[in-house]
Amino acid sequence: MNLRQESHPLVVVGAGPAGLCAAMEAAEAGLPPLVLDEGSKGGGQLVKQIHRFFGSREHGAGKRGFQIAEELVSGCLGKGVEIRLGHKVLGFFPDGRLLVEGGQGVFVLQPGATVLATGAVEKSFPFPGWTLPGVMGAGAAQTLVNQHRVLPGRRALMVGAGNVGLIVAYQLLQAGVEVAGVIEVNRTVGGYAVHAQRLRREGVPILLRHRLRAAEGEKEVESVLVEDMERGTWKRFSVDTLCLAVGMAPQAELAAMRGCHLVYLPELGGFLPWHDRAMRTDCPGVYVAGDLAGVEEASVAMDEGRLAGLAAALDAGVLDPGKAAERMEEVMERLELLRGGPFGEPRRKAKERLNSLTVLAMGSAGRKASIHGRTGRR
Ligand SMILES: Cc1cc2nc3c(=O)[nH]c(=O)nc-3n(C[C@H](O)[C@H](O)[C@H](O)COP(=O)(O)OP(=O)(O)OC[C@H]3O[C@@H](n4cnc5c(N)ncnc54)[C@H](O)[C@@H]3O)c2cc1C
Repeated sequence: MNLRQESHPLVVVGAGPAGLCAAMEAAEAGLPPLVLDEGSKGGGQLVKQIHRFFGSREHGAGKRGFQIAEELVSGCLGKGVEIRLGHKVLGFFPDGRLLVEGGQGVFVLQPGATVLATGAVEKSFPFPGWTLPGVMGAGAAQTLVNQHRVLPGRRALMVGAGNVGLIVAYQLLQAGVEVAGVIEVNRTVGGYAVHAQRLRREGVPILLRHRLRAAEGEKEVESVLVEDMERGTWKRFSVDTLCLAVGMAPQAELAAMRGCHLVYLPELGGFLPWHDRAMRTDCPGVYVAGDLAGVEEASVAMDEGRLAGLAAALDAGVLDPGKAAERMEEVMERLELLRGGPFGEPRRKAKERLNSLTVLAMGSAGRKASIHGRTGRR
């Protein structure tokens, strides 16, 4: 079968904050990008975030996630970026071609360079009753409520008191779902105190040192069994929805398919493509950004996207090296600040470990063969 072929100087996979910022930066530098996203709206995760974001003005602090998404999309369109929604990248071959489904069927793209910004996927784990209808990722519950305006159930229990668990639990409350509680195995709340306080003010208990044991029900979730790890006792919550907010993992399949070297960094969500400070992978012409390059926040994703766009334009020879260095330095300094503080520190150290691998990667033995070193937790 002969498939339609298209060539583009730069293809960006993913129209989340990382991909859109990469596209804007590249377009500004004179490298016209084509952005592909399987979703029906540009903005990635931001599309369903109805809460106000923290951070600095450059990252849209004080605005709601979906508003930031709208601004990024119009920023791209203003710079002449082509965004094709409803286009899923099915494959990324070792020769650099992409297999895409969308528009009028399946076709092949031959990019000059590629930025992968495919985001992250929710983690899960098996437990008795985990296949019952009513068990879902917190992100799925958020999509139902904030995008499709459908309640996932009437009464829910949230597993995980990180930011995603706390934010989604609150948004479920706002939508009219009764939230029976948030359980967390750790001794402390992992998310920001402000999100936890909001829930507590509404009377939602956050139960630390509590472990999920089973979802129960004949045809769907009717109750959830939880262990109080301090007392060694068990509790039964009468709920029809069980949401899991137990972490996110970089969506690295396309990078792996292309042959990018993957590194395991638990602080950044697990396996992710090795990259240097300018977001170049070990495959020439392939760049990564955002949650795919380590699960962090939208602000980080935007700046990593900017770096990837700059690096792609620089390597394509359309951007003056002096200008590129100046702009990259500015963005890298901002990233350093974003990774300050107790929440950012473990991620900053993990990225530093990745950079120590960069030194080895640039060694005389050749880039690809020489990527090695310790990446485990220290
Ligand atoms: C509940 C929740 C609350 C959050 N709150 C905050 C907050 O307050 N502040 C903050 O800074 N961050 C927050 N974040 C984190 C933030 O949303 C992410 O860090 C950010 O969206 C990551 O951006 P990204 O561009 O890397 O990925 P995403 O936003 O996930 O975008 C990736 C895009 O790639 C597309 N894609 C993936 N694979 C393919 C493929 N094969 N073909 C085509 N398209 C593909 C997807 O459709 C998606 O649109 C929150 C996250 C969650 C889940």
